[in-house]
Amino acid sequence: MNNIDIARVVVDVPSSQTNRPFDYRIPDKYQGIVQPGVRVIVPFGPRKVMGYVVALTGESEFDKLKPVSDVLDLTPILTEELIGLGKWLTEQTLSFYISSFQVMLPQVLKAKYRKELWRQDEELLPEALEQLFASRDVIDFEEFEQAGISYHQLQKTIHDGLIDVHYEVKSKETKKTTRMIQPGKEPLELEEATIDLPKQAVKQKEIVQYFIDNPEPVSQKYLLQQLSTTRASLKPLIEKGLLEEFKQEVYRDPYQNREFERTEPFALTEEQQEAIAPVLTSIEEDRHEVMLLHGVTGSGKTEVYLQSIQQVIDKGMEAVMLVPEIALTPQMVERFKGRFGSRVAVMHSALSAGEKYDEWRKIQRKEVQVVVGARSAIFAPFTNLGIIIIDEEHETSYKQEDHPRYHARDVAIYRGERHQCPVVLGSATPTLETFARAKKGNYRLLTLSKRMNDATMPEVELVDMREELHAGNRSMFSRALMESIEERLRRKEQVVLFLNRRGYSTFVMCRDCGYVSECPHCDIALTYHRRQERLKCHYCGYDEALPSRCPECESDSIRYFGTGTQKVEENLQQLLPEARVVRMDVDTTRRKGAHEKLLSQFGRGEADILLGTQMIAKGLDFQNVTLVGVLTADSLLNLPDFRAAEKTFQLLTQVSGRAGRHLKPGEVIVQTYTPEHYSIELASQYDYTQFFNHEMKLRKAFQYPPFYFLTLITVSHPNQLKAQEVTQKICKFLKGKLSDRATILGPTPSALARIKDRYRFQCMIKYKQEPEQRKLLKKVLHYYDEEIRKNELQISIDFQPYQLM
Ligand code: ADP
Ligand code: ZN
Ligand code: ZN
Repeated sequence: MNNIDIARVVVDVPSSQTNRPFDYRIPDKYQGIVQPGVRVIVPFGPRKVMGYVVALTGESEFDKLKPVSDVLDLTPILTEELIGLGKWLTEQTLSFYISSFQVMLPQVLKAKYRKELWRQDEELLPEALEQLFASRDVIDFEEFEQAGISYHQLQKTIHDGLIDVHYEVKSKETKKTTRMIQPGKEPLELEEATIDLPKQAVKQKEIVQYFIDNPEPVSQKYLLQQLSTTRASLKPLIEKGLLEEFKQEVYRDPYQNREFERTEPFALTEEQQEAIAPVLTSIEEDRHEVMLLHGVTGSGKTEVYLQSIQQVIDKGMEAVMLVPEIALTPQMVERFKGRFGSRVAVMHSALSAGEKYDEWRKIQRKEVQVVVGARSAIFAPFTNLGIIIIDEEHETSYKQEDHPRYHARDVAIYRGERHQCPVVLGSATPTLETFARAKKGNYRLLTLSKRMNDATMPEVELVDMREELHAGNRSMFSRALMESIEERLRRKEQVVLFLNRRGYSTFVMCRDCGYVSECPHCDIALTYHRRQERLKCHYCGYDEALPSRCPECESDSIRYFGTGTQKVEENLQQLLPEARVVRMDVDTTRRKGAHEKLLSQFGRGEADILLGTQMIAKGLDFQNVTLVGVLTADSLLNLPDFRAAEKTFQLLTQVSGRAGRHLKPGEVIVQTYTPEHYSIELASQYDYTQFFNHEMKLRKAFQYPPFYFLTLITVSHPNQLKAQEVTQKICKFLKGKLSDRATILGPTPSALARIKDRYRFQCMIKYKQEPEQRKLLKKVLHYYDEEIRKNELQISIDFQPYQLM
């Protein structure tokens, strides 16, 4: 027999042993329904589990196949291309197939499924079960489990066909529908019918009259509101067949209540024309090519993206536009919605699970041609891609720090090859990896060197905070910055103050003995949260009350230190009581919509100073901002990360770009303890090229990317010795197997040596070419599979890591 009646299924059992497709027979009733890309329920050992069908086949190396138990989707939720991508991701990142598929789908489709027991007919059940059902037809499986009735008894009734087991995908946010009403008869017939209606049925007559005048379907809600009546008058008309009701899916469009002003394309400048030409050619010729659009902030990159996307739409194709999560501001969305209207779906984390699902369905149903979104939008289920754009390509948020540890740029290039379309990477400060590739000609380099409207980049003044100290100024604001802020307040202009949160959160220290409050489960200082008067760990969530006395020496001069945004705000209010300050950080933007509210408040001029963390560094574009202050430029430099200088350069360039984007000239003041550091000095001169050259020399000398590839293996275990031992063993194994051109460093304790009571050790591989590497590491994972499954041991493998701690 050569029937295609076998489904190859990746099951939701994440373990090294089960990380391959399993074969199942497709029962007759599911023939044609089970196809690649649908989810099914299949028996797996003693349980039933969810799985993704990745292929159909007519042959299996096994004789006795179990049948597929249930089908969850009637149309595939993964395209053939995405199934292939999932396989590739799994191999590239050494993760589980199941996590690779899960990461491509909206949360709603990953929800846990629930079991139900369905009574099959009227026949009497054994007494215990009869009581449990208590004249209902369906009960939750949990009810059965709680009742303590024997499984044997249930098994027998199932065997006898009295009860059936059903699997419900349980999710709070599924499709949202609205009840629609439409006429069930022709207008003439409706008119006849009104005569037959009882005299006192005034409302019913009104309703019928409404449909004689408007034969289009309307929502029940709207109808009842318009005619100020209730469902009671509607029901008899539906029963008589004069009206019909049906359900229609509604999308929860978070932007539906916003009007977007339509914008027209600008006539491109000469530089923009030169930059866009190769992109348009590549679209025209259906040719895959990776391009780097290198241009300072305000040089017109976004306009180039918009016009490239227009060309793709005109060709009847689709576009993916990635922007970093924090740059996905309302202003950004507005530019895309303004140009392409309802052809745009927006995907970002601030949406509810239901909203995300709705946006995803618009893509799946081909109701939109453009998706603008953060990292995971790279998996948009488009089938006819014409371009993929990654703005701010240097952003580390494009790398997922959890299984599967993929980089959106790699996925973009994979998809770009499959679809034969261009991939455009844009940035003012590209990663060294990308710029090096562009210089070598692997990527095509497109440059925008000038800002629009002949605007110049704002002047950057570096203030040496050591000199401030010498001069007796102990405040966190230098005299220069203070004077400049005061001047803006007088001139009624606005100020953006930037504080880098990382490494500078507030911690509690004893002034007498130097004791610092640390998390008992992680090797990290606790952060002081003023509002709740509590100390919290940002890694594990542990919290405790603020101590009034030092636990070490009992002194009562235990204080909080550091410069959290709250503290800066306080100081600012003391020094400039008349200034109106808006603070934006994780605390003030937690609630949905808060981000947007604070920004528009500032945009309307209801505040003088916007004070915030990373999240204000990007995308903001306010006319009246003429001063940007950076309180602590060095905070990133001290991190144990070979990219520290690169990140500092990127951040300072980014922040400076916030000033003087319009007619009024801007000024930037950067406070630092190390003004002589090349990353700070060159950022203040906007000299990317010189920074690139300098940094490349160091990377080469210390064997770092882009000269070498890195693989970071982090081992963690509750027992310190065990963690170290395993890491040691892995290092030794690799040293024996990899070529002698690879450098293997370790075992060393991680910079964060303990998190959640687990000790962490790492091994770093530096290499140029090690084709056997993945195979070897897979062996390592296999070897420790048992201990990993018991969740005692954790081994994380990160190729091209961005987080080194
Ligand atoms: P970037 O993305 O590089 O920061 P934008 O595309 O946002 O730059 O351009 C900066 C400003 O210049 C925006 O306000 C944009 O509307 C405007 N702009 C861009 N291209 C043109 C053009 N060809 N003519 C006039 N204005 C333009
Ligand atoms: Zn003390
Ligand atoms: Zn902790």
